[in-house]
Amino acid sequence: MQEKPKSRNRCFGRNVGEGLLLSYRGTYILMMNLIEKVELHFGKKGVACLEAGNYLYVGSAFGPGGLPSRLGRYANSIVKRHWHVDDLLAVADVMGALALVDNQRYECNWAHALRTRFQEGPSGFGSSDCKCSSHLFYIGVKWHLEQLEFLSHDLGCESKQVRILNVQQLKERIW
Ligand SMILES: [Zn+2]
Repeated sequence: MQEKPKSRNRCFGRNVGEGLLLSYRGTYILMMNLIEKVELHFGKKGVACLEAGNYLYVGSAFGPGGLPSRLGRYANSIVKRHWHVDDLLAVADVMGALALVDNQRYECNWAHALRTRFQEGPSGFGSSDCKCSSHLFYIGVKWHLEQLEFLSHDLGCESKQVRILNVQQLKERIW
């Protein structure tokens, strides 16, 4: 018999079964590492020169499967490219993610918060459907995944509200 979660937080640390996925909707920041400088072609017309180093991409997942499905897709090999970030993931490695399970969409607010702190990525990247200039940010080199937690204050969250997931947890959908 499957035990029902008493609260969202109680689910953390478990492998999320299909039946629970819908309750894990929310906003995320995907952390990536680009080993060498590239000329990236993204979407239909986008092209940009990206320095080697660490990048943050802000998005949200409110479709079927929610956050575990979306982030799991990024962490595993993407078969068919759909989003701009898929084009970047063809050359960059996923390091992990920060995720907030919440029914409200925060991606543009978070992009705004990251803009005050980090160098913005190429214009239009991940922001075809909003007014932001970009949803990608270059944060330099030598970042560790755990450091994402320090951003929670800037994002308007408490660190206990957000979840930091490493690449293995993302791959296996352990939330
Ligand atoms: Zn936006």
